[in-house]
Amino acid sequence: MAGGVEYSLPFDVAKHQVRISQGSRGPWSHFRHSPTLDLTYAVDFALPFGTEVLAARAGVVLLALLTGKWFYEGLDPEVGNNPGRNFTNQIVIEHKDGTRGYYSHLGGTPVVGGHQMVAAGEVIALSGRSGWVAKIPHIHFQVIDPDTFLSVPVAFVGYPWSLDHQTLLKSGQIWTGEETL
Ligand SMILES: [Zn+2]
Repeated sequence: MAGGVEYSLPFDVAKHQVRISQGSRGPWSHFRHSPTLDLTYAVDFALPFGTEVLAARAGVVLLALLTGKWFYEGLDPEVGNNPGRNFTNQIVIEHKDGTRGYYSHLGGTPVVGGHQMVAAGEVIALSGRSGWVAKIPHIHFQVIDPDTFLSVPVAFVGYPWSLDHQTLLKSGQIWTGEETL
């Protein structure tokens, strides 16, 4: 479904390096289906809190949930993967082909609202401390096929390397820094 589509990186690469703290099929949360969503092909980009998050692809804002207060900085997956009714702050953008981009661990400052059209590269939110942020500030990005609720593999313009966690780990490319961004 995502065949041939390339996404922009969801932050300004002139200001921030690409630092992946958890790749696709990663061991903390990207190996699993949440009760409603498959996280397999998600990618976590390490970024300082307050970084401008950019739309990776044009579309319409389906959901802009920026009022959540829950966050968890620990490392226990039983806690981090089970937030109950609490949730990460997130924005969901529906693309022309029906797929949906999810941007999570956002801050509470509204930048775009529901039903708003956004262009690729447009600022949609600021990164923040919401959801299971663990120890490394990051944003979580994934694309979902709404017919199956499965995540789909993505490719980013200007990022020619693998997004697979184990591949990145073997080549020493998983970012393990903490507040030293
Ligand atoms: Zn993630």
